[in-house]
Amino acid sequence: MADKGLGQHFLLDLNITRKIARLAGPLEGRPVLEVGPGPGGLTRALLEAGADVTVIEKDARFLPILNDLTTVSEGRLTIQMGDALKVDEGALAAGAPLTIVSNLPYNVGTALLIKWLTGPYRPASMTLMFQKEVAERIVARPGDDAYGRLAVLAQATTQAKIVMEAPARAFTPPPKVDSAVVRLDPLPDRPPTPLLAALERVSQAAFGQRRKMLRASLKPLGGADLCAAAGIDPVRRAETLTLDEFMGLAQAVLVAERHGEK
Ligand code: SAM
Repeated sequence: MADKGLGQHFLLDLNITRKIARLAGPLEGRPVLEVGPGPGGLTRALLEAGADVTVIEKDARFLPILNDLTTVSEGRLTIQMGDALKVDEGALAAGAPLTIVSNLPYNVGTALLIKWLTGPYRPASMTLMFQKEVAERIVARPGDDAYGRLAVLAQATTQAKIVMEAPARAFTPPPKVDSAVVRLDPLPDRPPTPLLAALERVSQAAFGQRRKMLRASLKPLGGADLCAAAGIDPVRRAETLTLDEFMGLAQAVLVAERHGEK
């Protein structure tokens, strides 16, 4: 029985799982991390593509079926039981950075993505299935209804693109909504960690009150003064700001904090 609390909707059609593996490729000889393999449909496609796969699964009921895959994988499958939110990816990947490929559980998908975008571990690339609505929030542009903190963090750190759509009926059991696969390729010049942390705070405050003018929504971080320092009109709203403008605000937060310390 699928456990709703663990976001279990399975992809059992090898045509679909092979397509996801192709979209993540080339995978031959590469280390791949898959979160939530469940009964192993996607895992099988990743192994077929020649990857060295490590899976992390929370639900122990899948262990026997995953163990069966180990025997056919010629030593290329490592199974780890546990919570992917708590895993140290750096400890999993001894050599080359991990390519992450997953049909993510809905309930923790966004949290995992934020971890991989802003955390200390930098994957080689990510090819991830989300609810379509979340996929649209990742790739949204200024002015789009879906534009928010997730778009800002994803696009500050990666090049993100929807590469496949999957209707609800592709899953067993079918979820209530459609899904989409997003491929995210980290930018070579990811902003340094303190700047990313400031970007998280600015975008959270600005979109937390997205209908308000920036001078009000950003008040805890300096309001109109912060906007002036970044050269941004304080009567604008979060949804109109480009990524570069958010970066400018984040820089201004760091400068203001440095001055405050003196
Ligand atoms: N990959 C499989 C497929 O495509 O058929 C299953 C995908 S299903 C959407 C999500 C899987 O993630 C489930 O097997 C669930 O048990 C597992 N899961 C849920 N939360 C998890 C967590 N925090 N860490 C690791 N696995 C988790």
